[in-house]
Parts: sequence; structure tokens; C-alpha cells
Amino acid sequence: MRNTLLYRIAFPFVLLILLIVSALSLYYVSFIRNAYIESFSKNLETDSYIVADQTLPLLIDSTDNKIIQEDIVKTSELLNVRITIIKNDGSILADSAMNPMEMENHSNRKEVLASLTGKVGSDIRLSESLNQKMLYVSVPVIFEGQIIAVSRTSISLKSLEQKIGNLQKSIIGTAGITAILAVIIAIFVTRQTLKPLKQLTSVVSQLEKGEFSNRLLTERNDEIGKISQAFIQLVNRLKNEIEGFKLERSTLNAVLTHMTDAVLIVDSNGIVQLCNPSAEKIFSIKRDNAIGKTLVEVARNHQLVELWKECLDSRKQKSTTLEISPNKLFVQGITTPMEDVFPGGVLIVMQDLTKLRKLEKVRSDFVSNVSHELRTPLASIKALTETLQEGALEDPPAARRFLGRMEIEIDNLTQMVQELLELSKIESGRVPLRKQFINPSEIIDRVVERMQVQAIRSGLSLISEYPTGLPQVLADPERISQVFVNLIHNAIKFTRPGGKITVHAYSDRGRVVFKVEDQGIGIEPDSLQRIFERFYKIDKARSTGGTGLGLSISKHLIEIHGGKIWVESELEKGSSFFFTLPIA
Ligand code: ADP
Repeated sequence: MRNTLLYRIAFPFVLLILLIVSALSLYYVSFIRNAYIESFSKNLETDSYIVADQTLPLLIDSTDNKIIQEDIVKTSELLNVRITIIKNDGSILADSAMNPMEMENHSNRKEVLASLTGKVGSDIRLSESLNQKMLYVSVPVIFEGQIIAVSRTSISLKSLEQKIGNLQKSIIGTAGITAILAVIIAIFVTRQTLKPLKQLTSVVSQLEKGEFSNRLLTERNDEIGKISQAFIQLVNRLKNEIEGFKLERSTLNAVLTHMTDAVLIVDSNGIVQLCNPSAEKIFSIKRDNAIGKTLVEVARNHQLVELWKECLDSRKQKSTTLEISPNKLFVQGITTPMEDVFPGGVLIVMQDLTKLRKLEKVRSDFVSNVSHELRTPLASIKALTETLQEGALEDPPAARRFLGRMEIEIDNLTQMVQELLELSKIESGRVPLRKQFINPSEIIDRVVERMQVQAIRSGLSLISEYPTGLPQVLADPERISQVFVNLIHNAIKFTRPGGKITVHAYSDRGRVVFKVEDQGIGIEPDSLQRIFERFYKIDKARSTGGTGLGLSISKHLIEIHGGKIWVESELEKGSSFFFTLPIA
């Protein structure tokens, strides 16, 4: 309560009002009392003079105090005052209220003392004889220049005190009511004045909870109204800015969450302050476990810690490539000092280069494979040409033989270049598929017929086996034939004369499975996965002149049809190549 503005503003006013009202009441009461006393004193003075005039002849003529006593008793009734006649020695000659004989000497009474010096004397005191508060006024009774006695009149102030008391009560009552009204009005006015401030307080406490209210607190045009309006403007600006910050923060969050690069922010003590999902993945650690831990604990990579230290010391951007366990990821780490925004902080960004590195390896492997594959036939052509130049031309049968071998090498080269072009086309999606509904049996019959001559030439039997009524597939017949030719061609190549090659087809769970089965040399388990890679040949020594691209091309062709290709094989028993096509 003491801390409220209402108390602070209203309390002094209330106090002031109470003080003024009480002071005014006291002043008026004493003013009225004095006015009464003054008027009574005047009347008593007049009365005292009347009594003095009236008593003087009696004092001179008669020595009998009784006559004076009777006289003043009558006058007292007439004037309605108490009358006392005191001799100049202080003894009481007569008194209208008491027996003068029983009264003590009055020479020491204040008013009597004054009148004995010729003045009008007055006093207010408790009458010992009447036991009442009395107002006394006395005047000297002078005969031939001598003060022979004192005429004193007095009245009881009891009724006056009662009247003053009543007056005081009514003034205090009125003052009290006025004070209460003033207090109520003061509190009301202060409250009304402070109302916008109270609303302001509630808006501020809402603000603390993050709730914005921009309703106009007051339409008043006074100072508080202006403060409220200024405050609302401030709130609006704050709201816009906070919304802007929120947007910025969520954008930043979205960027950090979805970016493929790993981001860590580390403070000057090496404590991780921020860790994005990619960093979680790279370091195989949960964000909540990473934040608050040291970089050493989180990264478990001394190269990265060194990079951070270098950046912290030099205050310059540093970068290096490093391998992160346990996933053996190859990353590019970049550390940047965050001086302006976060003194001592370092931003660590890590780009995962693993895929890029693999691609790079594939590319360089490819180049070295191609060059290797080209070098062999080229070297052979070169050797044959040299032999011809060195004299073999003079020997026409030998020359013809050499030219024949050169032709074979050139054919090999041509085939390889063609297959490479084909593969590159398929890989880059530049092969348009002319898909149509085809009967698996038709395509098998056609290919088996086409490859029959080759099979027979190699002393092999080539047959097909499939149930009737196979479901149709949606495929490019040319491309599927190409796959079949590749597989059957391989089967012929790797099967010794007398062997059998069978082409099967059956329907299975929404797809048609095709199988080219041979009784050839088989494939060792280690190579089963790899034979679909470009240029992969199992044993270069047993190479039959193939390019190692056929299966790679077949795999791509089947995959762009939405199917799968795989092989099962047993060494020296034979191999079975499977591929599937979805049922149309
Ligand atoms: P290539 O033109 O050399 O035949 P492929 O990609 O068609 O190239 O085959 C890759 C390698 O897979 C072959 O060099 C061969 O070693 C092996 N291979 C393919 N088919 C068979 C098979 N039916 N039996 C045994 N080995 C095979």
C-alpha cells in the first residue's frame, strides 16, 4: 500500500485536508469563544458600572451592609448576573449569590487588584465558592477621587461552555464530513488519474509474458494520456521488431536445420553453444548432449580442435580437410571468428566431401579404366603396324593375318567406344524409352532365335522355358532385347562347349522374373556384387575380349524400367542372371 502511487499522491492531500479542516475548526471555535467572552465582558463592564453608580450613595450614606446586600440581590435578578461589592481592603461587603460573611478576602483576586488601581479588571476562573467557571469583570467605585470599593459582576460560563461545546461538535462534525468527502474525492480523482497507469502496468506485465496488447489505454490528452500513447507506439514498434526477430530466427533455424553443412558455435572456453542436425549426424551425438560440452568431447578429433585454436589465436578464418570418425567421413572444416557478434566465439562449418570424394574417385577410376582399356588394343595395333612396316608386308599371308588381327582390335575399340557412349547416354537419362505392352514370351522367342546361331557355333544348346499365359509388361522391346543379348552373350562366352543355356520367365508378386541360366565357369562370391560395375571383369587373364561394360549397361536399362537385376552363381557349376519387369 505504502508503495502505491495512489497512497503517495492521495495521502499528502488527505493529510493536508485533515490538517486544514482541524486547524480551521479550532480557529473558529476559539474565535467564536473569544467573541462571546468579549461581548459578555463588555456587558458585565456596563453592568458593573451601573452597580457601582447605584451602590455608591448607599456606600456613602449607610453603614448597614444589609441594605446594600438587598439592593444588589434585586439588581442581580434584574441584570441576571452575580454581583459582588468588595471593599478596598478586599473584604466582601455584599454578594448576590452568597453570604458575604462566609466569603474570604478578595484583595488577591486578579480583577480586584486591577480595579483597586483604577482599571477595569477581568478574569475567568473556577469560583471556589460556586464551584463553577466564571467570568468576572470589576470596576472601581470612586468617591472624591478615592477608590472606596470595587463593583464586580460575574456570570457563569457553564452555558457558554455548553453552547461553545455544541458549536464545536457541529463544526467538528461538519469538518469531519467535509474531510471524509474530501478524502473520497481525493482518492477517486487520484484513482481516475492513475487508471491509465494501472492499465499501463497490466500491459507491461502482459508484455513480460510475451503478449502484446495495442489497444489505446486512454483517449485523454493530458500527460498520462500522452505517456500511454507513446507507450503504445513503443509496444507496436517493439512488437514489429520482435516479430521481425522471430522471423529472422526461424529463418535462421530453418537454414541451420536443413543445411547439409554441419555447424557448431564454440565459445572462447571451447564450450559448444550451438549444434545443428548435420553436426549431430557427423559427430554421431545428440544436440542436447553436445551443447555445454567441450569441443574436444563433442568432435573427438584433434585436427578440428587444433583448427579451432588456430582460429581463436590468429582471429582469422582457417580451413582444412579432415577425416571424422566413427563414420570415416571426409570433411572440409572451416573455422571463422565471430568477433562482432560473439566475442571469443568461433563458427565451425563442416562440409561433407565424402560423396564428392567418391565421385572424384569414380571419375578418376573411370578415366584410368578407359585409358587402360584403350591402351591394350592400341598397343597391339601399334605392334602389328610396326611388324608390317618392318617387313611383314613383304610376306602377303602374314600381312593378311596381321591385318585381320588389326581389324579385330579396331572392332573391339569401336565396340567399346559405342558401349561407353551408350552407357553415358543411359546414365544421363538421354535414352528415350519407347514403352509398349509386350508379351514376355514373344521377346524371349525372338532373342533366343537371334542368338541361336552363336550358341550353336560355340557348341552350346540354347532353349527357353516359360509357362503359357505370362502377363504383359510395359517396356521398350529393343532395350529389353539388348539386355537379353548381353546376358546370353556372356553365358555363351563363359560356358564350355556342350553346355546348356536356358532362358526362363515366370510371374511373381506383381512382376515378371526373367532368368538366363548357364552351366558355365561360374562367378566367385566376392565378385557377385561387383560385376555390375563399369569395366569390372573378374579375371583379366581369362578375358574374352569383353569391355566390362555390358552388365553395367544392362543394370541401368532394367532400373530405368523400374525393375531389378541380380546374379546367383556357383563356381564351376554355372550362373543365373535374373531381372524383373513390373506387370503392366
Ligand atoms: P564383358 O563385356 O567383359 O562380358 P560384362 O559387364 O558383360 O562385360 O561382364 C562383366 C564380367 O562379369 C565379365 O568380364 C565376366 O568376368 C563376368 N561374367 C559375366 N557374365 C558371366 C557368366 N555368365 N558367367 C561367368 N562370368 C560372367
